[in-house]
Amino acid sequence: KIFTGGFSKTRDNLAVIDELLLYWNLSDTDRVLDELEEALLVSDFGPKITIKIVESLRDDIYAGKLKSGTEIKDALKKSVLDILTKKGAKTELKLGFRKPAVIMIVGVNGGGKTTSLGKLAYRLKSGGATVLMAAGDTFRAAASDQLEIWAERTGCEIVSTEKEKAKASSVLSKAVKKGKEEGVDIVLCDTSGRLHTNYNLMEDLVASKRAIAKLVPGAPNEILLVLDGTTGLNMLPQAREFNEVVGITGFILTKLDGSARGGCVVSVVDELGIPVKFVGVGEGVEDLQPFDAEAFVNAIFS
Ligand code: GDP
Repeated sequence: KIFTGGFSKTRDNLAVIDELLLYWNLSDTDRVLDELEEALLVSDFGPKITIKIVESLRDDIYAGKLKSGTEIKDALKKSVLDILTKKGAKTELKLGFRKPAVIMIVGVNGGGKTTSLGKLAYRLKSGGATVLMAAGDTFRAAASDQLEIWAERTGCEIVSTEKEKAKASSVLSKAVKKGKEEGVDIVLCDTSGRLHTNYNLMEDLVASKRAIAKLVPGAPNEILLVLDGTTGLNMLPQAREFNEVVGITGFILTKLDGSARGGCVVSVVDELGIPVKFVGVGEGVEDLQPFDAEAFVNAIFS
């Protein structure tokens, strides 16, 4: 239900698998698996994960463990589900016991960072927490205004700065201090859209993380990387880079209501071992959902 309307392209690309498996018989295995491999590749699964999946299916078929097209399809879905739900990959937020918990939202411009922060604020607030927003995207002029709108919409307080080109770390520190003084439960920190060629922005992100850690031991509790679900395998180097620089604790995958490319999600989770925590399925306040791996797999292989 969550993914209705999304993944049309991925779904179409993968639909060919059903037809292939309908007529599968043992002597046909290699041809069928070649075509299955092709279908996974055009669905952005990436070569590494595709080979892993296909070779494990081949082994199980020849070992006599998979005896029908339906069994192969189920095994395929299960192997994707296993990657997405690897041991220790918890989708719940880890907020610790100290107040305030601090969540940093990072990602490249246009991916849906500010929108996701707003939707997350709504979610946390609906769950009974007090939430303070910190407008740390000091690089893009309109970002604070956009966040102000979300603060109003969700009834959250916001800390921002009028100063042009202010350091993100000083705005975020100010917010965390305020949160501490006022006993706020959660501070949500917006950050600048990092172009991963721009070293200073990355440095700024590291400085922000350090400043926050000085104010509250154990914080930031979560650093969530927003990934645009429509960008396909481009999200892989992006995720790698952010993780190396700042250490990512979870992904927010946005725009899954549109023509999102499902396969690359599996690749990113597999390579980095970082769980998807939330998915964005629209632009409204309620359009951020906890990631349900099973629903995701059923949506792309429907
Ligand atoms: P930022 O630059 O990373 O802060 O990105 P924004 O939050 O400004 O989002 C960029 C655009 O994507 C805006 O027009 C958002 O409304 C839109 N957007 C963000 N998340 C979603 C989503 O889950 N679904 C859809 N359809 N649009 C989204």
